[in-house]
Amino acid sequence: MDIQSVRGFHDIFGKEARKFRKVTQTARNLLERYNFEEIILPVVEFAQLFQRSVGETTDIVQKEMFVFEDKKGRKLALRPEGTASAVRAFIQNKLYALRPYTKLFYEGPMFRYERPQAGRYRQFHQIGAEVFGVAEPHADAELIKLVYDILSELGIKGVVVEINSLGCKEDRKRYREALLSYLGGVRGELCPDCVSRMERNPLRVLDCKVEACKSATARAPKITDFLCEECREHYEKLKEYLKALGIPFRENPHLVRGLDYYTRTVFEAVSDELGLTLIAGGRYDYLVEELGGPPTPALGFALGVERLMLLLPDEEQKRDVYFVIPFGDVHAYALKVADLLRRLGKTVEYSYRKGGLKKQLEFANKLGVRYAVIVGEDEMRNGEVTIKDMKTGEQRRVKLSELEEGKLG
Ligand code: ATP
Ligand code: MG
Repeated sequence: MDIQSVRGFHDIFGKEARKFRKVTQTARNLLERYNFEEIILPVVEFAQLFQRSVGETTDIVQKEMFVFEDKKGRKLALRPEGTASAVRAFIQNKLYALRPYTKLFYEGPMFRYERPQAGRYRQFHQIGAEVFGVAEPHADAELIKLVYDILSELGIKGVVVEINSLGCKEDRKRYREALLSYLGGVRGELCPDCVSRMERNPLRVLDCKVEACKSATARAPKITDFLCEECREHYEKLKEYLKALGIPFRENPHLVRGLDYYTRTVFEAVSDELGLTLIAGGRYDYLVEELGGPPTPALGFALGVERLMLLLPDEEQKRDVYFVIPFGDVHAYALKVADLLRRLGKTVEYSYRKGGLKKQLEFANKLGVRYAVIVGEDEMRNGEVTIKDMKTGEQRRVKLSELEEGKLG
């Protein structure tokens, strides 16, 4: 076939699909244990939503967004992230009127036009959570604990939680001045991207992945030295709570995140092994208001499903499958046997394979099934089946009536 999938867009199947489900199920179970409610958001939004929230000068909006026009010439975008949509939905559906605070989670594909490489795709999947209406740092601590719980539950090791505070608008303004004057002195060492970032969005320079920029900014002033009294207290409290919860964290004064809407707390769970960010989040206390809602402090995180999959071991499918093998013209009977077993709660594969017993049992082994249920004409005449335990090789004839009574091996 000469039609291939689009670059950066992947099929996920076999053991990768199982890992995908392991990540999403584990996260969903924990989100439910923290009593978050699901919101199912559209994949397409007006491009403007992301320009106004993620930020005009961010890489996501400037370079990575899939933007297109619909038949009426409206500028739409495949969503590059979920927070903007969640905030839009929160405002549009007046969810703020229902409760003093709101906890939502979402799951689904995101789209970014990036250079594809390991752990970086153009369609990838996120699970995200958002808390609306809470300003205090115990909410930040709980959210980071949730992130930590997801990683622990998945058995992922070698992960560090990095935290930082970006302060409020006033803190940022003061810090920006100090940072700009520092960057002026090392301008010659910065990459061309960072030179232009300096003008539009100097904090972004701290986020640059280019080695030269990293070393040029190593001695840059720290934003945490520019926090006002309240922001500093928020940050100190957060650290106190994280310690109380026993979460190992590392302060990273250069952590600024790639989106403009963050304020105060930002955090990332970083894999030392992969050198990639697995889960990232923070506060965005002004965003709801900026998008036209009532002033509402908020915070959230997003987890990269494919990134976590990279850290999971390969696993064989472990299920006790009953493999029903019909021999001869017995389908009317054998289909009912399969149905009965399924009604008893068993996982049943009805063999579509043709061929004799040897071939069938070879196939059963390949599938890794636990029991072969042999249904021939003799079994049918007697209202029976032959059940072979593929592990022990043991074989016995059983009456259907016995099965119905739940007498299963
Ligand atoms: P990075 O610095 O790795 O580009 P980011 O800052 O762009 O990440 P966020 O926008 O905060 O990432 O998204 C949250 C998470 O989504 C990331 O931590 C990562 O796990 C995942 N993610 C982001 N971009 C991609 C991508 N192109 N492919 C796969 N996963 C991604
Ligand atoms: Mg990115």
